Amino acid sequence: MKVKTAVLYYHRVYEKKCDINLLCVTPKKFEQQMKYLKKNFNILRFEEDWTRSDRDSIVITFDDGYLDNLTYALPILEELQIPATIFVSTGTLSDIRELWWDELETLLLTDGDYSDVFRLQDDIYNCEWRTDTYEFRLNCYKALHYLMKNHVNPLKREKWFEQLWKWRGETRYVNTGNSTLSDRTCQELAKSKYITIGAHTVSHPSLAKLKFEEQKSQIQQSVAYLENLLQKKIDMFSYPFGVESIDFDESTIAACKVSGIRKAASVNEGLWQEQLNPYAIPRNSIGNWGLYEFKSKINKLFGKEE
Ligand SMILES: [Zn+2]
Repeated sequence: MKVKTAVLYYHRVYEKKCDINLLCVTPKKFEQQMKYLKKNFNILRFEEDWTRSDRDSIVITFDDGYLDNLTYALPILEELQIPATIFVSTGTLSDIRELWWDELETLLLTDGDYSDVFRLQDDIYNCEWRTDTYEFRLNCYKALHYLMKNHVNPLKREKWFEQLWKWRGETRYVNTGNSTLSDRTCQELAKSKYITIGAHTVSHPSLAKLKFEEQKSQIQQSVAYLENLLQKKIDMFSYPFGVESIDFDESTIAACKVSGIRKAASVNEGLWQEQLNPYAIPRNSIGNWGLYEFKSKINKLFGKEE
């Protein structure tokens, strides 16, 4: 019998009012989910050789490196003795800014007074959006998110943020609810024997859109930064955004291989089985689900009906 492994991925363990990208699982629900997994499954580490397991297993991962992984997730993981791998984007470790999608959310989708229109001035994407209702702003958010993810480099993104803050009529501030790890808190997290840190690039680009050399540099720089910070070998990786042939492709995999990465995680859904490519490990997104929904999704993943 071939045993199966389901790799799960989370982003945040946090209670947040506005969570447009559905990144948060509340601490209470996360604890329920972990207790259920601990009781019913073998839980493996991401970096382990999964073929050695003799029963169906679960692997827990987190992407991006939010501070709540330390403050809310870690105590639960330690209490239940559950290992997890956290893939950290290193650009945010020394940056006081929010991740750009969070900053966009802070700018467009939180409470406050909004003017009627946002006009983006750009040499290619001169656009304007109505912004007088939440629905219009959501529309603007989605368009800007799409452009920032797929067509805009970090330098231009910064220019757009300057325009957005000007439009909001506020001095740029950081929404502390969206804090990411710093050098120090990342070290603290890595000290736990239950935590493995993996890399997730420097600036979180959709890698397949970059030239090979740029992809390599994003991977190698994030690995080198973490190795220096943590004084540990870093050879696990997850692709930002993670969709195969959109966010990573053959060239990305080649860039991982020459950078010493041994395993890389995608967001292709499904189970891992022995013959699958270790550079395109499927993972399954976990939402802010109560126990009933969580159980049913996990069992479905393993092809078991309740
Ligand atoms: Zn990510």
